[in-house]
Amino acid sequence: MRFPTLPTWFAKKLSVASPVKVKDRSQLRVGIPKVLNIWTTAQFWVGFLKALGVSSENIIFSSDTSEEQGREFGKGRGTVDCCYPVKCISGHYGELIFGQKKKINVLFSPMIHTLPSLLHGHVVDTITCTRVMAGPESIKAGFMKERDIFTENGIVYASPFVSLGDRHMVVQQMHDSLKDVFDLDLEETNLAVQAGFEALDAFTAKARQQSRDILNWCAQNQKPCILVLARPYHMDTGIGHEIEAELQAHGFPILWLQYLPGDGDLMNWLFEEDMRSGRIKSPFDISDVWTSSYSSNTNEIMWGAKFASRCPWITCVIRLSSYECGMDQPTYTPTQKIVEASRTLFFKFGDLDSTKPAGSIKIRVETVVHYMAKYSQEIMRSKLARLSPQCPLGPLQAPASSLPESEVPAGLHADNPPAVSAAS
Ligand code: SF4
Repeated sequence: MRFPTLPTWFAKKLSVASPVKVKDRSQLRVGIPKVLNIWTTAQFWVGFLKALGVSSENIIFSSDTSEEQGREFGKGRGTVDCCYPVKCISGHYGELIFGQKKKINVLFSPMIHTLPSLLHGHVVDTITCTRVMAGPESIKAGFMKERDIFTENGIVYASPFVSLGDRHMVVQQMHDSLKDVFDLDLEETNLAVQAGFEALDAFTAKARQQSRDILNWCAQNQKPCILVLARPYHMDTGIGHEIEAELQAHGFPILWLQYLPGDGDLMNWLFEEDMRSGRIKSPFDISDVWTSSYSSNTNEIMWGAKFASRCPWITCVIRLSSYECGMDQPTYTPTQKIVEASRTLFFKFGDLDSTKPAGSIKIRVETVVHYMAKYSQEIMRSKLARLSPQCPLGPLQAPASSLPESEVPAGLHADNPPAVSAAS
């Protein structure tokens, strides 16, 4: 017998009567907290709402996380969650409720259960962190513990439980939870969901192409770049503290793992030997390094580490992680080992919280820049030596060695490539 636990658990009653009386939704103002996995799915929600007739200027995202935001709008509304990125959501809710010149009608905070991913079908599942998934529920409690702040402000609280990684489920999920909020029928929900996925897919494809263009430029010019190994919300300047921007200011292009290119030619080139040896079944297979591959962001972090370990022009990986992140704890050592197996530089900025330690970031950025300047050419050279000369990116030229030939460790010469053992 099947128990519909999740639909029952998350079944919603509207906090106030829906503001939508006619199907003209152009005046409806919808606020979306810019938190957690919204960072890589925002285009879906915008595409969905626009297809329903909500105008672009009436889709309002909260600002990036900041101490002021938390102090001004989230104070006294904390919930028991100890991880920093979830705690911050109170400030985002408060800013949307109390901080708008023109009030919002709907606070839209989806509970995202699964995520679209390049690795879909190659891993066990693409589920989100449970704190991320249920975050909106725990944060909502902070706005209802004494009295219902949503009702007081005439705001409908909408929090659809959505499996974005399992597209066949999304129309029904969105219709079930939003039909009363937006006065939706199933057909228009279907069209809006399609529009949402089209917008998300178009953006993601464009971002991946831009990452490929960066790699192409690096290959043509034999220049190094940096990969950021982090969760989507580290793009938030208040969570990731713009560490990658400091490095970019030194002239190193930055790639985010969420938008690495997954084109077949590039993947086959990077993972050719691993597939030939039977170590993995496809370039997106991470079973050689991570068997419990059910968590989407974690899977992608492990895959990004493998990608970086092999890709010649990624000579440095920056690992970001937030305070009290239970999901990241078991991945620290494996990711570092995978990346460093090919002598790629690895720097971790862990336990990030509300404080931006500007001084120590500056010192560490200078350290990263020093090591990149000193070792990048050698790292590129040794990684290129392990790959086939048929590179799908720019023309291959062996970068000039910055070390005398006698100091290059045996086995890393282009004419004497070692057996592939780059990752793990
Ligand atoms: S992934 Fe880590 S930091 Fe992010 S919500 Fe989950 S436990 Fe918190």
